[in-house]
Amino acid sequence: MHPITLVIHGGAGTLLPGNMIPETELRYREALERSLDIGYNLLKGGGTALDAVEASVRELEDCPLFNAGRGSVFTAAGTHEMDASIMEGKTCKAGAVALVRSVKNPVSLARLVMEKTSHVFLAGEGAEQFARQQGIEHRPPEYYHDDFRYAQWLAIRETETVQLDHSSQPSKSENKFGTVGAAALDREGNLAAATSTGGMTNKRFGRIGDSPIIGAGNYANNATCAVSCTGSGEYFIRGVVAYDVSCLMEYKGKSLVEACRIVIHERLVNIGGDGGLIAVDTKGNFALEFNTEGMYRAALNDSGEKMVAIYRNP
Ligand code: ASP
Repeated sequence: MHPITLVIHGGAGTLLPGNMIPETELRYREALERSLDIGYNLLKGGGTALDAVEASVRELEDCPLFNAGRGSVFTAAGTHEMDASIMEGKTCKAGAVALVRSVKNPVSLARLVMEKTSHVFLAGEGAEQFARQQGIEHRPPEYYHDDFRYAQWLAIRETETVQLDHSSQPSKSENKFGTVGAAALDREGNLAAATSTGGMTNKRFGRIGDSPIIGAGNYANNATCAVSCTGSGEYFIRGVVAYDVSCLMEYKGKSLVEACRIVIHERLVNIGGDGGLIAVDTKGNFALEFNTEGMYRAALNDSGEKMVAIYRNP
């Protein structure tokens, strides 16, 4: 029997103590804890890592506080285009979707791509068609609307600026990211990871970030680890960040914690990227690493000690 472990995130960024009113902070902490409990209870009952990461991410997608599913950011056209992915460590099977507009839980559509097709990645209208064929839950555009996200978009819609979630300034140092993700180890020793996002405010031209790209924003392999990322997607794609963590473990014999530190604080920084990741290995070790001021994050393992944190010093 393996030590079950679950870690989740709700995005990284300029999260400084005192920037949020206490009520809002409490709502974030409660939402993280709900998502953690849902996934962890599944693991505790003998459920698979795959079921746990999907369930935790669904909960965060349904919560308008995070930039995924309900509450996703607005595109330049005033719409929502969501990306998600899921991967199973035992088989290295994966599923991903991008640019979906009406699917309530993009992470579940990604899982259906993995389980019901011979493909890995579906995008746009084709992904929507597949979703309809599978009878997955849809919602009208109003469902995804959030006043705060709408105001963010109104402030920059006439400009060429593309802004990451919650950002009040277009400059990179002011960015916050609201993507969500989970990584888990189940009793059988299997790993899984899932990531879901609305992407960047005012994004255009069918822009797709790292979140649905296997190896960039999401990765799981029983030989090494399960990883879910959040941050400036273009850099995470160029750094092949999630797979880089796995490679450092597999080819260089680094521990999970060492590998995550190197990738987030050295390799990503060297190419100018900011953000963070959560990761778990097959022994139940976990890492919650970020090079921004904070990251919405939570973790729970067999020790029973629950950690929910936002700022650098929890
Ligand atoms: N990584 C996401 C993207 O670039 C953004 C985020 O983490 O919030 O689409």
